[in-house]
Amino acid sequence: MKIILSVLLSAMLLLLCAAPAAAEDASQSFGAYGHIFIIGVDGAGAAFDKVDSPCFDQIFGEFAFRHDAHTEEITISAQNWGSILTGVDCQTHGFTNGGISSTERGSDSGNQTIFYYARQAMPTAKLVSFNNWDAINHGLIENDIAVEKYHYSTDPQVTDAVVDYLAAGNAPSMMFVQLDNVDHAAHAYGGFSQAYYDAVRTADYLVGRIYNAIVAQGLMENGLFILVADHGETTNGHGGTTKEESSAVLAVAGRTVSKTVLNESVQNRDVAAIALYALGIAEPSQFIAVVPEGLFGALRTDVSFSLIPAEASEIEPDDAAQNPEKTSTSFWARIKAFFKKILDFFKNLFN
Ligand SMILES: [Zn+2]
Repeated sequence: MKIILSVLLSAMLLLLCAAPAAAEDASQSFGAYGHIFIIGVDGAGAAFDKVDSPCFDQIFGEFAFRHDAHTEEITISAQNWGSILTGVDCQTHGFTNGGISSTERGSDSGNQTIFYYARQAMPTAKLVSFNNWDAINHGLIENDIAVEKYHYSTDPQVTDAVVDYLAAGNAPSMMFVQLDNVDHAAHAYGGFSQAYYDAVRTADYLVGRIYNAIVAQGLMENGLFILVADHGETTNGHGGTTKEESSAVLAVAGRTVSKTVLNESVQNRDVAAIALYALGIAEPSQFIAVVPEGLFGALRTDVSFSLIPAEASEIEPDDAAQNPEKTSTSFWARIKAFFKKILDFFKNLFN
């Protein structure tokens, strides 16, 4: 009896000690980061899992990811980039592609972005956004909080600009980069086409270039690197409720990020909660984004952030993948893309 009692008591003591220790490890991540890098690949869905993506593997293989995190109910760009940046669902923020393309907004317009909260907490911090789809700079990120905004019309140009910006010694507290050519490929050729998968491979290569530019400046020592997609694609693009459209990659690398596959409940909008948490900014009350369970853990002494070797990162992207819009498209693909544009236009009107 005595033995049983002492075993029970020891077990209870162990439990009591173990629980707070585990919690403490994760909470060490609150405010542990000085630089948040969010790379958004429009339309990538879960496709990094379907192509050879050596840069993804090198960056996130030892950290946390989920290829099929949930998107917003409406699988359209503004609805999802809106939620990724504001931490609320698409019904709450109400952004549409047409709306954010035509209307700038200030910080008094409600459902503020994580840039707004970063600015409140850090009045002089460097905050920067690079977009291929300019509507994000134009109509999502507030125009009165001194975020540096840059727009280029191809992903390689966006990437070159990011790399140059970092190489010049800029060390932003928060950086958002949006690549758009994967979505262009899906609209022109369909979401299961070779051109689409080639575009995802090219995006992997560009993400690798951005990562290397960050590592080269030593910014991953206290940096958090996040990859996220707004939605996936199907044969006719996106906007529907198929598994392909409503799955989106979410991957995170950093000093206190666990090696784990994030659980099934993860949403792409959780990026908003992760970013503020890592910077040590209390989560705004309206947020429904959460820091995914198991994402953060103890400080990792088993990892280092080194440049992705050339043999892994140097996939020579062909011209079609670089710039799918500008290559010759078959007659029927053009007709299809034309009607898709009209359909998208009406969808946007009603969203
Ligand atoms: Zn999109």
